[in-house]
Amino acid sequence: MLACRGLTKHYATDRGPVTAVRGVDLDIGSGDYAAIVGRSGSGKSSLMSMIGGLSRPSAGTVRIAGTDLWGLSEAKAAAFRSTHVGFVFQFASLLPNLRALDNVALPARLAGTMSRRASEERAAQLLADMGLDSHAEAFPFELSSGEQRRVAIARALMNEPGLLLADEPTSDLDEQTEREVMALLRDINRARGTTLVLVTHNLTLAAEAGRIIHIADGAVVA
Ligand code: ADP
Ligand code: MG
Repeated sequence: MLACRGLTKHYATDRGPVTAVRGVDLDIGSGDYAAIVGRSGSGKSSLMSMIGGLSRPSAGTVRIAGTDLWGLSEAKAAAFRSTHVGFVFQFASLLPNLRALDNVALPARLAGTMSRRASEERAAQLLADMGLDSHAEAFPFELSSGEQRRVAIARALMNEPGLLLADEPTSDLDEQTEREVMALLRDINRARGTTLVLVTHNLTLAAEAGRIIHIADGAVVA
């Protein structure tokens, strides 16, 4: 499902170049659940951004379901990303002026893949799957942070991606809410067969993954 080769990221900074990711090779199979762990600053988010198509690698390749992501034109990459990859960020990142249902339906609207009616029905179903049926009409500010995160997960699933990327999706939540959101992600992996790559610093929760990938100083160490 996911194959990275020689993935490298340099940033130009005032203090000179910083190498955040150094030649990462990574293979993750379809339907797998892999947790990425490592200290703050070890390059996890830089790696995830390149895998998710958000930040261009300085060197190396990312293949998702056989497609060379960074070999595509910008327009093709955007279309591929929106239908194959779901991304859940550390902070909820919902659009504040859209109701939960419209936030969830947005990726389908942007991709133009479904009628308005069909996208609303799917969004409502996803919200129900996340236990949020009664909150479909709520605006983000009317939801708790755990509920907002579940809306963001539903949104990430809107276009039925084969690959779900989550970068510390629970680090700002209390322990109980963190466990609930992590259980939800694990259930999505199991029930839908969605390949899940999750960055976390919670080693207890990482232990639930099928595989743990340790990153230190931009490289895979185990
Ligand atoms: P992590 O997610 O593991 O905390 P990051 O990928 O965010 O690590 O950062 C890895 C390294 O790259 C750090 O030294 C960080 O300061 C640097 N870095 C990250 N993003 C940028 C950027 N946009 N510009 C310059 N340096 C960056
Ligand atoms: Mg990070």
